Amino acid sequence: MSKEIPYKIYLEENEMPEKWYNVRADMKNKPAPLLNPGTGQPLNAEELGAVFCDELVAQELDNDTQYIEIPQEIRDFYKMYRPSPLVRAYCLEEKLQTPAKIYYKFEGNNTSGSHKLNSAIAQAYYAKKQGLKGVTTETGAGQWGTALSMACAYLDLDCKVYMVKVSYEQKPFRREVMRTYGASVVPSPSETTEVGKKILAEHPGTTGSLGCAISEAVEVAGRDPGYRYVLGSVLNQVLLHQSVIGLETKAALEKYDIHPDIIIGCAGGGSNLGGLIGPFMGEKLRGENDYRIIAVEPASCPSFTRGTYAYDFCDTGMICPLAKMYTLGSSFIPSANHAGGLRFHGMSPVLSQLYHDGYMEAVSVEQTSVFEAATQFARTEGILPAPESAHAIRATIDEALKCKETGEEKTIVFGLTGTGYFDMVAYEKYNDGDMSDYIPSDEEIAASVAKLPKVNA
Ligand SMILES: *Cc1c(COP(=O)(O)O)cnc(C)c1O
Repeated sequence: MSKEIPYKIYLEENEMPEKWYNVRADMKNKPAPLLNPGTGQPLNAEELGAVFCDELVAQELDNDTQYIEIPQEIRDFYKMYRPSPLVRAYCLEEKLQTPAKIYYKFEGNNTSGSHKLNSAIAQAYYAKKQGLKGVTTETGAGQWGTALSMACAYLDLDCKVYMVKVSYEQKPFRREVMRTYGASVVPSPSETTEVGKKILAEHPGTTGSLGCAISEAVEVAGRDPGYRYVLGSVLNQVLLHQSVIGLETKAALEKYDIHPDIIIGCAGGGSNLGGLIGPFMGEKLRGENDYRIIAVEPASCPSFTRGTYAYDFCDTGMICPLAKMYTLGSSFIPSANHAGGLRFHGMSPVLSQLYHDGYMEAVSVEQTSVFEAATQFARTEGILPAPESAHAIRATIDEALKCKETGEEKTIVFGLTGTGYFDMVAYEKYNDGDMSDYIPSDEEIAASVAKLPKVNA
């Protein structure tokens, strides 16, 4: 095996990006604007300013600026855990006996264990710069809450996390990591908000939901002018911040003149995938280069492959703005046996538009095959992947096996978004043979899609 390309391609600190890349600038068809659910009109900067801090509102609405300066303080924070390595998966290639060349960009090398820190620090920085006291958010599995706690600790900003009660109780270690970084973590629903009290009165003993936790976090931010609400995926601003992943990947590949044929990422709300593919998609949009780009989603929550492109609520509580996206309907809830994350019903409006216009593909994979790929990867490459990341591993292995059949030496790059140490209950299920697959029926999806809000847009 030729080894001129090292196992890990690192960039020097001075080769790290100084600007984020905004793919919307190169899109002919811009993503549809967020709508005010009350009026059905696009949200303006003033309305958005009640929810997000000013600089982030500007980024959210900016469809034209191609590159946006990364403030020095954020670049300094990035240096604590970036640049992240681009790894040549020589061991996996060998195991698969494939002629394909496989690379992965590893974002799990920080305490939050995922790429979410890239946007958490940016969102916390702009809140601090605006003189705010703190931020509120929700967290389900806990990666986003952990990333935000780390960023807020660094900037001395108050951080209130509403954590879905069932996770709060079942993932005590995640909760303690957040508290160690100084965040206050409240199990949701709680008595600290009106909406929480109402839900508790109606459903005593409920273990909560993401939609409910969002409602509580938004209410708390709304009643104190010193706070804003922040979100870890889906939004245009989050994809912008995550472009640091793609910019570093591109710079590392260029060092060795590597041209990827296929770029693969898992898709929940779309932030890691949007960030990884951003600069490559830019070249594709400008007609400079071509790549196959594949989004991988769970068969139990298949927004791209079986969803509808329409305006929908971002939350199950139906209080957030309407976004035009591929969606299964905000009332869609993945089956209880779904253990692998990526359970959001919708998809980033930017990626939705690109998918709609034919610039990328999507596949869905079943969770037992995802955990099989995760295990194979852990045993060959050493890293224990997050179940979310393992969706991308599954699709990568499938593409590499196709290359084995055809003899094609394709170059595949995929995003390894994080590590899975806090997901051992899911791994335990898989190891015990207790994991099953669930694919929603067409009727089930049609029933929640039938409840999409009526919008004339
Ligand atoms: C949150 C998360 C994802 C999915 O979110 P996207 O916004 O789709 O990127 C994927 N992998 C890991 C490790 C995560 O924490």
